[in-house]
This record gives sequence, C-alpha cells and structure tokens, in this order.
Amino acid sequence: ENNINAVLKQLGIENINSAYATGSNWGKTNSEKIIESHSPVDGKIIASVQVASAADYDFVIETAQKAFLEWRKVPAPKRGEMVRQFGEALRANKEALGTLVSYEMGKSLQEGFGEVQEMIDICDFAVGLSRQLYGLTMHSERPNHRMYEQWHPLGIVGIISAFNFPVAVWAWNTALAWVCGNVCIWKPSEKTPLTAIACQHIIDKVLIANEVPEGVCNLIIGDRAIGELLSNDTKVPLVSATGSTRMGKAVGAAVGARLGRSLLELGGNNAIIISKDADLDMSIIGAVFGAVGTAGQRCTTTRRLIIHENVYDNFVAKLVKAYGQLRIGDPLDQHNHVGPLIDKDAVASYLDSIEKCKAEGGKFLVEGGVLTGEKYTSGCYVKPCIAEVKNDFKIVQHETFAPILYLIKYKELDEAISIQNGVPQGLSSAIMTLNLREAEQFLSAGGSDCGIANVNIGTSGAEIGGAFGGEKETGGGRESGSDAWKAYMRRQTNTINYANTLPLAQGIKFDL
Ligand code: NAD
Repeated sequence: ENNINAVLKQLGIENINSAYATGSNWGKTNSEKIIESHSPVDGKIIASVQVASAADYDFVIETAQKAFLEWRKVPAPKRGEMVRQFGEALRANKEALGTLVSYEMGKSLQEGFGEVQEMIDICDFAVGLSRQLYGLTMHSERPNHRMYEQWHPLGIVGIISAFNFPVAVWAWNTALAWVCGNVCIWKPSEKTPLTAIACQHIIDKVLIANEVPEGVCNLIIGDRAIGELLSNDTKVPLVSATGSTRMGKAVGAAVGARLGRSLLELGGNNAIIISKDADLDMSIIGAVFGAVGTAGQRCTTTRRLIIHENVYDNFVAKLVKAYGQLRIGDPLDQHNHVGPLIDKDAVASYLDSIEKCKAEGGKFLVEGGVLTGEKYTSGCYVKPCIAEVKNDFKIVQHETFAPILYLIKYKELDEAISIQNGVPQGLSSAIMTLNLREAEQFLSAGGSDCGIANVNIGTSGAEIGGAFGGEKETGGGRESGSDAWKAYMRRQTNTINYANTLPLAQGIKFDL
C-alpha cells in the first residue's frame, strides 16, 4: 500500500480536480459527473476523477485548433526532439508508471513495465522518423517540369483508447502524430483514467521546457459520450480508435458519414496452428503465454489452438499440465503468472461464455471458475480454462476478453488454414512448424488472412518496428512502425513548370 501511495504521489495523482488538460494547464470543469477508478487487484477505489462536459470539449478543440497553426510550422526534426525528451521522461518514470498500470488495470508488473517500454521504443522510432517523412519524386511527361510529392500534417488527431493497453496505445499514436505535425486529443478508457492523468503529468515538464503551445497535447476524461463528440466532429480529420468491434463500427460509421478518416484497431480472435512438425516444447510456451498473459485481455491473446491429429494427445497433455502450474493472484507479486480481469462485468461475460460453450457442446479439459478467499477479494480473479470445441460454435466466433482457450483438431494444413481464417476477426495468427513448405504456405497469399502472421512465435505481443493492425472486423488500421505514419498525414502532389511556355498534359493543344 505504501508503495502504491508513493507511486501516486510521484505521478501527481493526489489531488485530481480537473477533467481535461490542454498541455501543462489543467482546466476546471463545471461538470458534476465523476468516475471512480477501482483497482481490480484489491477492489479498492484508487481515486475519483471528474468527467469533462461538452463545454470543456469545445474549449479543448478550440485550443487544439489554435495550437495546430503554430505546431505545423515547427520543423519536423524539432518536433522529434520534443518526442526524444518525452521518451527520456518516460524512462525516468518507467517504474512508477508501470506499477500504476499494473495496479489500475491488473496486468502483471512485468507487463506493466513492458507497456511503458513500448512507449519508450515508439518515441525512439518517432525521433528517427522525424527526419524521414519521405515523399517520392516523379519524372514529368512535360519538358522543364518537376513533379514530386510532399506529406503534410492533418490537424487534430482524436485518440480513443481501450483499457487493456491504457498508456501504450496513446504513445503509439501521439509520438507519430506529433512528429508528423499534428496535435492530439486523447480520450482514454473510462476504466483507466488515472494512468492517463499520470502520462499527462509526465509530459508536462517536456512541454514547458520546449515552449510547446498549449493545445498540442490534450487529455479529456470521459466515457463514450466524449468519444462520440470526437467521431462526429468535422474539426477532427482523423480519429484513431482502439477497442471492441462494436465500438469500431459506431466510430467508423460516424467518421465515415462526414467523410473523415478513421484508424480502427479492434478485436481479435487469434489462433496458433500446431503442426505435426512443430517443436512442441516451444509451442507450449507460446500457447500458454499467449492464452493467459494479461489474463486473456490482449487484442492479440491466443484464443484458439488448431492442433494436428498426430500430435494432439501429446500436446494437449503437456498443455493441461502447464495450466496446472499457473499461479493466479496479485499481479504486483512477481511470482504470479495471471492477474485479475478488469472488473466484475468482465467476470460475468467470462462465466456467460463458458456456459454458452458448454451449451453448444464444448468439452472442458481444464474447468474455469471465479476464485474466492482472502487473496481474491476484488472478485475479479478467474481460472484460465481450456475447452475442446468446433470452430463454428457461435461462442468460438466471438471474442470473449478472458482466458478461455479453445482447442480444435485438424488433419491437413489447408483445413487448418481455413479454420484459422474462418472467424470474423483478422488480427494475429501463427504457425508452429519446422517444415519450410508449411511455413511458406501459411505466409502466402493463400495462407493467413490476418494483419500479423508469425512462424514459431505465438500470436501475442508485437514489436513497434512493424505496422500493427488487422483485417476484417479488426478494422483494417495500421499503427506503429513501417510506414504507418502515412495515416497521420495528407499527401500532396506538386508539379512545377520552369519553362517559358505552358505545355498541357496529355499533349492537349489550347491556343489563344
Ligand atoms: P471498448 O470498445 O468498450 O472501449 C474502448 C474505448 O472506446 C473507450 O475509450 C470507450 O469509452 C470508447 N467508446 C465506446 N463506445 C464508443 C462509441 N460508440 N463512440 C466512441 N467511443 C466509444 O473496449 P475495451 O473493453 O476498453 O477494450 C477491449 C477491446 O479492445 C477488445 O475487443 C480488444 O481486442 C480491443 N483492443 C484492440 C487492440 C488493437 O490494436 N487491435 C488493442 C487493444 C484492445
């Protein structure tokens, strides 16, 4: 408890009476609505925060619009320097912020630190990127003409984030958006407002030291109502939204109706194919970490294992044995493998999915259930479970955000790939095989239909260097590495005539 209090103090979470910030300034709100942030670790209320009103929202938008006029003129490498210092501030606060992530959201301490490390990594990436926002040059068909393209910032980028990566998703978006010359408004999950407030405090000093205009880095606390304001607002050219497919369909429709841009990072239903040629010991580690890490609350969590019939019995026996060794409990205790679910609603949905699975004919090899007793007073700790199912069960087609692992047997690789692809979502996928032909088939155009396809690595987790995102109901957006930055910019094609005449394209003659 003392440790948590010290962390809260270090991160400025003691007196919270602001529902929004436009930089280092925290605004006073007239709104009387509050959100209580409960820790799933022990069920205690960590703090209450105020919710921004529509008037607060308008003020933030106005401030952001003004800031953009200045920020877009700052040279990109200078913006990168601000992001470099942001990365340094995160390094200095890694332990405190990681601990708060673990306490407010419930993931293990190591995963809390890992999440902050991802923020640091994306800052490093963005610093380099700030000197590499390249456009192409083309040869004009007209003499004495030059043609090239430039990338310009969009303006305000609205960021709506989910509870399970309460801080990294913001950093993935902002670090890139800022070096690209945009200003950002972040609406964090209403389940994790404190980690967001902590982030704003961490960047505070960097903003002041660099004389960054008020309105470049905005935070606005609220629930879906604020998300809806962002989605419907023509002053927000890009909305980057991470969360459930239900949310993404609403945001995508609202942004689409005004022909804005959206970047959607939604639910997954990720599978690992365990081939007859797999290294089974390695596969066990990938499968178990993928299924129970973050208590099954990652968008890339392994939800299905598609296992070859020749190795099925052997592999499943090892898997059940590994589940028997899992330690469930306080995520801040580094001996535990599995922490709590985010809240009691999530527990109810876990129990409901188990019932639905049984009703459809699922056979549980490791039973689920809610843990009770002194160590589990929050009521949010559940047992990771395993069921044999058919891929076309309704519940298997659905993403339940909890540690329920489904097993499906296969004979031929074609069949395994079609099972793997046979769900509405398309985020992450993997094959465990030492057979080159199988690996290449899985990665080919006729293989996995997901945004992420791995060989001899599980589905869960990704490096910031690659573009991150998925297809189908996962929403189609890409964030983070590779050329994902292009989503945060507008492309402009420029043609310059340095001749004494004005030749027209396609050889058209127009004499006066
Ligand atoms: P959620 O959809 O309940 O909420 C996510 C965010 O959207 C919150 O900030 C919420 O306030 C906001 N929101 C909800 N309805 C909205 C609406 N109609 N308009 C505007 N904003 C709205 O999701 P959650 O429970 O916080 O997170 C879990 C989900 O997120 C899972 O489905 C998971 O797979 C997904 N997720 C995806 C990725 C990815 O990168 N693909 C990453 C993390 C989480």
